[in-house]
Amino acid sequence: LNHVSLSAVLLYKTRWVVSRQMRFEGGFQGRCNKLVDGCYSFWQAGLLPLLHRALFKEGESELSRQRWMFEQQALQEYILLCCQNPTGGLLDKPGKSRDFYHTCYCLSGLSIAQHFGNMDLHHKIILGREENRLAPTHPVYNICPEKVAQALQHFHRLPVPQDNRQPGASADRLSEPTTASTSADLQS
Ligand SMILES: [Zn+2]
Repeated sequence: LNHVSLSAVLLYKTRWVVSRQMRFEGGFQGRCNKLVDGCYSFWQAGLLPLLHRALFKEGESELSRQRWMFEQQALQEYILLCCQNPTGGLLDKPGKSRDFYHTCYCLSGLSIAQHFGNMDLHHKIILGREENRLAPTHPVYNICPEKVAQALQHFHRLPVPQDNRQPGASADRLSEPTTASTSADLQS
C-alpha cells in the first residue's frame, strides 16, 4: 500500500465502523441488518481508538483531540440503561440473560466510551454520577494501560532467547520464513 491508499482504507474502515452505531439505541450492531448487542460496545467502539491513532500517524488533520469518532455519550446511555441486570452483571440487550462474556465486554466498551486519549493526553466523558467512572482500558489488550506499559517494559528488559535447535529441525522450517515475511510486510 502506498501512503494515500492506506489513509483511504483507514477512512473506509472508519466509516463502516461508525455506521454500526445505531441511531435509536446508541449501542453498536455487529454487522449490517443485525440488532444492537452490548458486547459490540468493545468489538466495534474499541476499533475507534486504533483507527484514530492510525489516521493521526497518516497525518489526518481533522481529528479531534477530545473525542473518538463515535457518539460516546449515546453508547454509555445504551450500556447503563439497557444492558444492566438489576441483580448484577451485564447483557446483550433487554430480555437477554446476563453472562460473564457480556459483562466483560459491556464494561470494556463503557470504559472506551468514557476515556479519550492515551497516557499523555486524556479527556473524560462520564455519563451520570462520578461513581459510574471506570478505569481506562487498553483497546488492544483490554487491561489497564499502566499494566500494558509494565509488561512491555518487563519483556524489553529480558535477553532475546538463544536458538539452540538443530538447523533443519521441523520447527525451524515452519517458523523462520513466516517471521521474515511478516516483518518485511510491515516495513513495506
Ligand atoms: Zn453479544
